[in-house]
Amino acid sequence: MDAVKTLANHRLSRQNNQMIAKAALDQSLKLAMAAGMLWLLGQMPCMADWRAGAASVNITPTQPVRLGGYGNRTSEHAGVEMPIHAKALALTWDQEAPAMILTVDNCAVPAALRGEVLSRINKAGWELSDSRFSLHSSHTHCAPTLPGVRPFIFGRELSIEEQLHIQSYAETLTAKLTEAVIHALNDQQPAKLDWSIGKVKFAMNRRFKTETGISNKRNFSGAVDHALPVLRVTGPDGKLRVIYSSYACHCTTLAINKIHPDWAGCFQKELELRFPGVIAMTAIGCGADQNPFPRRELSHAVLHGVELAKEAVRLINLPMKPVTGPVSCAMKEVRLPYDTLPDVPAWRQRTLDQNRKTAMHASYYLRQAEMEKIPRALPYKVQVWAFGDSLLTINLPGEVVVDYGLRFKEENDPARTWVNAYTNDVPCYIPSQRVWDDGGYDADESMIVYGHPTRFAIGIEEIIARAVAELVPGGYKKKR
Ligand SMILES: [Zn+2]
Repeated sequence: MDAVKTLANHRLSRQNNQMIAKAALDQSLKLAMAAGMLWLLGQMPCMADWRAGAASVNITPTQPVRLGGYGNRTSEHAGVEMPIHAKALALTWDQEAPAMILTVDNCAVPAALRGEVLSRINKAGWELSDSRFSLHSSHTHCAPTLPGVRPFIFGRELSIEEQLHIQSYAETLTAKLTEAVIHALNDQQPAKLDWSIGKVKFAMNRRFKTETGISNKRNFSGAVDHALPVLRVTGPDGKLRVIYSSYACHCTTLAINKIHPDWAGCFQKELELRFPGVIAMTAIGCGADQNPFPRRELSHAVLHGVELAKEAVRLINLPMKPVTGPVSCAMKEVRLPYDTLPDVPAWRQRTLDQNRKTAMHASYYLRQAEMEKIPRALPYKVQVWAFGDSLLTINLPGEVVVDYGLRFKEENDPARTWVNAYTNDVPCYIPSQRVWDDGGYDADESMIVYGHPTRFAIGIEEIIARAVAELVPGGYKKKR
């Protein structure tokens, strides 16, 4: 009996042990599954926390208007070769305020127009701060010029009719940019962000040293920055929604007197054709002394666009690095001093210059000098965005030469640093110390067409670099 009992107890005990073991196994499985889930969530840290919205608006002019960028055009544009667009991307991390990226097919959207767009957005009930709004001009030279940009570029006063057309286009553009931004803000849905850096080589340094100074021609051994950072926005279902990228090159393949977004627009169009429904956006890096090569044919702009798109597609088909929040957006205004100004007799002498642009410029500044109203420095706002510890974007106004992009990637972690120029304003060229020392168009003559009294004083590179360094979080800086 005892033996039977013992056997029965043994069986019961075995059954109990099996049940206990099964329960333990179930528990382990549950724990493993939970751990697995946590691991999976760990692989998708941005999935639950981002919301993104995007919008695209056609900004092609519907009436004749003077185009920006080149001073040798003598009439309003003669047709549309390819439409131009503005694209807005709203990004919100968790409960933070949104950050807004707006790319515009235009040679130079001035700070005043950007300020009006920002004011209208906020009047519509949004609270978008100056530091969380980045507006990137593509710098295509085949889009309408805007009020106040390069006032002496044509070497003559524009007719009243031409000025009215420019003003009218600026009004329409302001309304459309505001509309695009608000649409993107309202469109925000859960999203995943990731990014990667590729390489494309058609940008070439255009500052060639000769015995008589700097000449604008291909410099095969000059400094370049061929990086192509690409940010991808997808929905929680993995569906591609936005591709945002940047390339350090002048958007000057073309010099036609027709509307065309140049290589930046061809790049976007190629991506949007490959991925129907996707919005593609392009900013410009520190490419002020870089020209596309080859150039001048319509087919060249397409060629560059396709080359960029192929590289972007290659990147987005590979694993990309997650972009995490929060987004810390900082802005700092510095003053870039001008060099020693001519005196009144010198201005008067210059008004007789054979070059009409120089003479016009001198006539204007002679009046200002007589009233002692010439500014001594240019206010300049640098903007730095840090996406958690995953991505640093540095946004600089103006036509910034390549040395700045290379320097900021040298001073910070290059694998996490993305530098844009032509952002928030395009007041003039921004020469590095090296370019200032060498002189030439980018450092000197271009200041006349842009309407500044003279070139910058020595040392503006350090002023800008110090401001950027103040805004960059320590975790991105290279240990020295
Ligand atoms: Zn330019």
